[in-house]
Amino acid sequence: MDKLHLLSNQDETATGPPSHPPTAPDAGPFKDGASAPPVELMPEAGACAALIPEYSDAPPPPLGYLQQSPANSPDWHIPAISEELAREVFIEFASRKCCYSTKPSKEMVFTDMHALNTYRYRLETFTESRSTEWASEPYNGQLVDGLSGVAPGPWDMVVPVPALFKDCKRDIRIPHTSSVKGCDSCLNLGRSACARCVNSGRIQCQICGGSGRSASNGRCHHCTGHGRIMCAACGGVGSTTCMKCQGRGRILSFILLKIKWKNNEYTTMVDKRSGFPVDLLHSVTGEMLFTDMNKQVYPIVNFPEGAVNSASASAVQEHQAQFSTTCRIVQQRQTIELIPVTRVHFAWREKTHIYFVYGAENKVFTKDYPARCCCCSIS
Ligand SMILES: [Zn+2]
Ligand SMILES: [Zn+2]
Ligand SMILES: [Zn+2]
Repeated sequence: MDKLHLLSNQDETATGPPSHPPTAPDAGPFKDGASAPPVELMPEAGACAALIPEYSDAPPPPLGYLQQSPANSPDWHIPAISEELAREVFIEFASRKCCYSTKPSKEMVFTDMHALNTYRYRLETFTESRSTEWASEPYNGQLVDGLSGVAPGPWDMVVPVPALFKDCKRDIRIPHTSSVKGCDSCLNLGRSACARCVNSGRIQCQICGGSGRSASNGRCHHCTGHGRIMCAACGGVGSTTCMKCQGRGRILSFILLKIKWKNNEYTTMVDKRSGFPVDLLHSVTGEMLFTDMNKQVYPIVNFPEGAVNSASASAVQEHQAQFSTTCRIVQQRQTIELIPVTRVHFAWREKTHIYFVYGAENKVFTKDYPARCCCCSIS
């Protein structure tokens, strides 16, 4: 069992929106009509609220405030790749295609090259949500703490975040919520009726279908004419050990705190509408231009490419609206990546053509390679 600490006001890791006390047992996990811990063990709504600290994070500065100016980054403009590299990757591209001739790539004459800076903006909002539900385990004499103290509210429990920006789940028993109950599943008997034979210890013979007769109208050898055989599931006893209490007849009932950490991503591409299929860029690596990580990030306002600022503004606003009321935002991170895209114009046998070199991997894309056989449909 995890070590739990009571919250101190200085500790901001456990602040957050208060969650409601667990659902009433009859509407909750005990759908089968189980008895639940006595009402006096449940934290009262009023008492619980008093235990939950105020959300103490400093209010955000007004929108438009920028903590770290991306314009300070020295190298916003990435020049087009060199002609040597453009040719090299193009020859390699052509030689990998079974029905492309490498001739054009070797003989071509460059007429123009354009760097088309494309940006990948990404906002990650790492959230934590908490809920509670009744749970139980077989009672084997373990500690019962329901009456020995006041149960902390869900957000009073200090639980370290396992890893930032990684989805994770954890269930933790809330202290001072446990009590011993009779097992509702077996009515304290420790055994449940066998689901296969419904208490009888015998089931219908599958060979004769219960008739007791064989196909030749003689006696069925399998059931020796009785039409029924011993139930293998319970060994003929008619009941099995109760799964819920593992035969103990009693269970320890308690409230479980369920914590879910989730990384929520918003990604958008800002391109020059150059005719290049932007979808191809999702699979390539870019160059990280800007990273901003904080408990709460603010929209970027002064990136030279206005569309990136707009993307940041809508992303931050959208995530705030989506998550700030339903869960606790643990950390946010926004990044701008530059994905180099170069449009290369070249001439071969008096015709001009275009191809693109994109990503840190220098991948090639073209729609009109000049010399390929007609059977090839791949670009
Ligand atoms: Zn039979
Ligand atoms: Zn049975
Ligand atoms: Zn039971």
